[in-house]
Amino acid sequence: MRVGSGFDVHRLEHAQQPGEMILGGVPIATDLVVVAHSDGDVVLHALMDAILGAAGKGDIGQHFPDSDPRYAGADSGELLMQVLALVAPLAVVNADITIVAEAPKIGPHRDAMRTRIAELIGTAADRVNVKATTTEGLGFTGRGEGLAVQVSVLLDDDSRVNG
Ligand code: MG
Repeated sequence: MRVGSGFDVHRLEHAQQPGEMILGGVPIATDLVVVAHSDGDVVLHALMDAILGAAGKGDIGQHFPDSDPRYAGADSGELLMQVLALVAPLAVVNADITIVAEAPKIGPHRDAMRTRIAELIGTAADRVNVKATTTEGLGFTGRGEGLAVQVSVLLDDDSRVNG
């Protein structure tokens, strides 16, 4: 068994008009925009880094450089599929995700995120935990200038995870 941790931050800006952001693979209606080269799914980015970390395979910046035009607007769900292929035969036993943000509100989307992430990594929703917290108005997350995500994962041999 191998443990990994991932951390990612993206800047938030106010949109001219209401739109949506993708968080944990789920579209969320909001007037905030995540500033990013890819689709800006900071949850899946931190998850990928945790998986790569557990497998001893570096980080997503090495595998999908943001200087590479191929990854402009990239679907993080597809990148996650590539990460899972890279670490095989290791597979995710469980993932624990903490989202730090004042907005958008995560609670109403928590179950959808668990279901979607579990679907992407091929596991049951009860193996994916999504927590949300604020920083009580302190720091960049508190001022709503950005959001941060921290993830812990456990990986094990695929046959032991699914067998
Ligand atoms: Mg990122």
